[in-house]
Amino acid sequence: VNVSPPGLGDLKQEFCQAIAALYQRGWAMGTGGNFSCRLPGPDSDLLMAPSGVDKGTVTPEQLIQVNPQGQVVRGNGRASAETLLHRALVETQAAGAVFHTHSVLNTVLSERYAPEGQLVIQGYEMLKGFRGITTHDCAVAIPIFANAQEMDRLSQQVRQRLTTPAPVPGFLVAGHGLYAWGDTIAEAKRHVEIFEFLLEVIYRKLTLQALPY
Ligand SMILES: [Zn+2]
Repeated sequence: VNVSPPGLGDLKQEFCQAIAALYQRGWAMGTGGNFSCRLPGPDSDLLMAPSGVDKGTVTPEQLIQVNPQGQVVRGNGRASAETLLHRALVETQAAGAVFHTHSVLNTVLSERYAPEGQLVIQGYEMLKGFRGITTHDCAVAIPIFANAQEMDRLSQQVRQRLTTPAPVPGFLVAGHGLYAWGDTIAEAKRHVEIFEFLLEVIYRKLTLQALPY
């Protein structure tokens, strides 16, 4: 049976709803974070929220279309400097959607584990929320990159370090945030939720261990 792909209007609506939902969780405050999804078609232009807009109220009309060279080809607004990272994930991971969040916990934990270059999480049922993971009895290493304002350098490091496909659909930038991706908007959103859940588990476990008995 041939199922026709959702129209562009539906895609924009779904995208805006996903961004607003993540904003509601407190993971994209103060216009922080950025979000992209790949448009159907051979050019694989990206649909993005423009830089500097409130992520709680992005409307389909506000979305911009960005070509592979990072130029805005439709809509009004500026593409985020972090577009280069989204592009790297589209090209190396075949990501259909890339969601970048700034949560308190991804900021704190990426900073804490930055010297190790990765954060290993193992043994939790929620790991099964990641595509391809079928048992809690496994360990995943989330890569952590040093923060940088030079996005071309950071995106080069990401291209060099991430295998294809990466073992886990996300990485952290120290003291900055999380990048997570998926084949679809729904999968990218689920992956953000899984990462944020696991990061909260790690954080609460650390604080619990620090309490006196
Ligand atoms: Zn950011």
